[in-house]
Amino acid sequence: MSFSNLGLSEKVLAAVAATGYTNPTPIQEQAIPHVLARRDVLGIAQTGTGKTAAFVLPMLTILEKGRARARMPRTLILEPTRELAAQVKESFDRYGVGQKLNVALLIGGVSFGDQDTKLTRGVDVLIATPGRLLDHTERGGLLLTGVELLVIDEADRMLDMGFIPDIERICKLVPFTRQTLFFTATMPPEIRRITETFLHNPEKVEVSRPATTVATITQLQVPSGREAHDKREILRRLLREANDLNNAIIFCNRKREVAVVHKSLQKHGFSVGALHGDMDQSARTAALDQFRKGEIPLLVASDVAARGLDIPAVSHVFNFDVPHHADDYVHRIGRTGRAGRTGTAVSIVTSLDHKSLAAIEKLIGKSIPVAEGDWTSRPAEQAGPREHRERPREGGREGSRGGRKRRRDRDAGHGGGRNPTPAIQPTVATTAPTPGTSPPAQRPPSIGRPAGPRSSHSQSEPADHSHLPAFLLRPVRARV
Ligand code: AMP
Repeated sequence: MSFSNLGLSEKVLAAVAATGYTNPTPIQEQAIPHVLARRDVLGIAQTGTGKTAAFVLPMLTILEKGRARARMPRTLILEPTRELAAQVKESFDRYGVGQKLNVALLIGGVSFGDQDTKLTRGVDVLIATPGRLLDHTERGGLLLTGVELLVIDEADRMLDMGFIPDIERICKLVPFTRQTLFFTATMPPEIRRITETFLHNPEKVEVSRPATTVATITQLQVPSGREAHDKREILRRLLREANDLNNAIIFCNRKREVAVVHKSLQKHGFSVGALHGDMDQSARTAALDQFRKGEIPLLVASDVAARGLDIPAVSHVFNFDVPHHADDYVHRIGRTGRAGRTGTAVSIVTSLDHKSLAAIEKLIGKSIPVAEGDWTSRPAEQAGPREHRERPREGGREGSRGGRKRRRDRDAGHGGGRNPTPAIQPTVATTAPTPGTSPPAQRPPSIGRPAGPRSSHSQSEPADHSHLPAFLLRPVRARV
């Protein structure tokens, strides 16, 4: 099947050809003809399947005829996050090059006045997050009665974020006769209910979830104490000791935790950005841009902020927290091992996570091996390059007296005596396999340096950094 058989306009086909895509993805192949036939569509597909182009390309074809009127957008796309909205706008910019369409973005954290000015000029495509859209309608600056086509994207994520009442309100503001395209990755009962209300006799198109455990991703778990500072210490060790770490996303379950982990890693000299819903838009955009360009190799993120973002392949994913939803695990680790590349996903697991972990192992159909080593005890922190490290705190939870003693021991070259730093060569899994899952691999590949004596150095000697990942040697950037 080629794009030219789907009924798209010449202009759109030329734009697609310019991007270098030769064949439509399954969701595009199935959905585009229905959209062009002006049918409602229920698309069950995750990000990464090409679903954005599945609605953007036919919309561009449809919008070639007709003109926009002031304050009355012709089409409306609802997205759960600002980044996703911005990403959809980029798609319109890319595929709509041959057309003079007005595409406006209504997202929080951006000047209200500028958005209002844009609306008065007439908008063909309005891409919005629900809250900001309702702000505009309530102020009377926006009328949704001219919307011919409504897209509700990432509906299950909207549900998680509590946006469904807003979506219901918005649906009452658009004409009953509009065409609706509804995309969701999963179909929980609440989503099923609203599809029955919002969609008229929809065409259902479903593509299978991306392979849950890409063979090229090494998955490991590292046991940790329950305390957040235990987990942060383990995270630092993982970052320092992982093999071939080029760049990594560190996922936390809550935005507050994202901020704490981000700050802590910065304090410890890592070049790191953060992405969570409470940051202002310019900071979010800056962090994402820096990460995309490789200027910052580490990004601490929440699921909501990172969901669906088109981030280039990363070498490592770290789950600072085990996600509560098994689907999120699959989504997170899918950030690495893309396009046949190898990748590593390491989860920090506490005794509180065993239920979530069991659900994940059930979903992916295998158990996740435990990385070899003594992770629960607290061996000496290995010093990073001195210029990148803040002077170790003498007080506080992460600068305890034990820490001082360990630093002294390490400087004296006897490795702390108590807990020789473990190798991160994973052993054969020690977790009991989840019922119904396959047994663990015999010898999972390594995420760490080969086992062996750790170099030690004193404050007076120049440190040997040859074993450190390259990113640690990059200068620390100002906080965004
Ligand atoms: P999405 O699921 O919309 O987030 O798309 C995931 C990625 O697939 C994006 O980087 C798109 O640019 C890319 N993509 C979309 N359509 C195609 C296609 N037909 N062939 C190859 N890549 C595509």
